[in-house]
Amino acid sequence: MPKSYEFTMSRECSKCGDLFSIGFARCDNPSCGKVRPEFTKHEKVVTKDRGTCIWSGRNTDVRLPNGDWLWAPYFLDALRAGWLDANYQYTPQYLAAKARKKGRKT
Ligand SMILES: [Zn+2]
Repeated sequence: MPKSYEFTMSRECSKCGDLFSIGFARCDNPSCGKVRPEFTKHEKVVTKDRGTCIWSGRNTDVRLPNGDWLWAPYFLDALRAGWLDANYQYTPQYLAAKARKKGRKT
């Protein structure tokens, strides 16, 4: 698995110079609100609201069309892993991975 976007995403807003909050797609500065470069192609999922990531429980502003919130780096990870299609719907690969995780013995 490649390194999570948690560690590779841009850190600083090129518009206002503030540091980005890691879990958000948009700059935290209320007078700025620039979308991170990693999300310019995915502005459809970047909201003005905030919710809780279904995987990590952390706050985020990234929401899938089905209503699921995803922490910004995890959204990019999921996209790269082929877990989301071009319309940001879960793919069979994701559903299979999820089923495997559920069935895992502890
Ligand atoms: Zn900014």
